[in-house]
Amino acid sequence: MKEQLGKIKAEALAEIGNAEQSNTLNDIRIKFLGKKGVLTAILRGMGDLAPEERPVIGEIVNQVRQSIEKALDDRGLTLAAREQQVKLAQETLDIFLPGRSPRMGHAHPLQLVLEEIEDIFLGMGFTIAEGPEVEQDYYNFEALNLPKDHPARDMHDSLYITPEVLLRTHTSPVQIRTMERMHPNPIRIIAPGRVYRRDALDASHSPMFLQLEGLLVDKGVTFGDLKGVLTLFAKKFYGEDRQIRMRPSFFPFTEPSAEVDVSCGCLGKGCRVCKGTGWIEILGAGSVNPIVLKMAGYDPEEVSGFAFGMGIERIAMRKYDINDIRVFYENDQRFLNQF
Ligand SMILES: [Zn+2]
Repeated sequence: MKEQLGKIKAEALAEIGNAEQSNTLNDIRIKFLGKKGVLTAILRGMGDLAPEERPVIGEIVNQVRQSIEKALDDRGLTLAAREQQVKLAQETLDIFLPGRSPRMGHAHPLQLVLEEIEDIFLGMGFTIAEGPEVEQDYYNFEALNLPKDHPARDMHDSLYITPEVLLRTHTSPVQIRTMERMHPNPIRIIAPGRVYRRDALDASHSPMFLQLEGLLVDKGVTFGDLKGVLTLFAKKFYGEDRQIRMRPSFFPFTEPSAEVDVSCGCLGKGCRVCKGTGWIEILGAGSVNPIVLKMAGYDPEEVSGFAFGMGIERIAMRKYDINDIRVFYENDQRFLNQF
């Protein structure tokens, strides 16, 4: 029996030594020390021994049990430490790994151009005014000297919602709304915003586009003041070497009216941009028609003013050398990412 116990001990210690995982140790413990384990079976068989042998064998069984338990505990600690190491290694946080940066948005090219133009006029003392895009016929046309039967209404292919309400065809109604609100004080505003026309979308037309309108009303404002403001704008936006020229034109809300051209970057040599003329049309302008001043409650004998309006898409297309207006609205990332 001593021999048998010696074999059990050796077997157990060998198995423990070979165990590579904590739960294997548990199985070994059950196998040798459990209720149905090998050592327990030996203890049960001790009834068959001679009485004087029992304490001797009992003593040996206890020693074997203690040896196995100690071996299990030691091996357990070793394995637990090793498993901890493995776990730590797996969970290592690489603090030098570069982070994933979120994609940053940026301003749309039309917004960039609009803000650049706004900044120039804000620098001259203008403030920004806004008005509704769904507008009354009165503000969009009538108060701008465009009565219902006026032939110039045909120039605006309007999108009507009801006979008296439409999507504004220009930012000029903001002029009227501002004059009504500010009356009788002097006015110096720019009004940027979306406008709508019943146009099919093609390379040079869009049913929705951006305009920027300017209005100045005060005592003693002359056409010369208009030319001065627009010259300063052209030099700031296009370059100090630029000039403007004014050609007679017609708008119902200004009198006299002018189309305004800026000299081309080719300095008169003629190029594709100016189609060989040396000039590029940039905006329409004029002195505020006295009829418009009167309808807004101002006395044209006392004050005068000027107004101008420009299309932001046209200006942006020339600035960035874009030949199709549709790219502004298609949200193609390959296009937008260039700005
Ligand atoms: Zn040119």
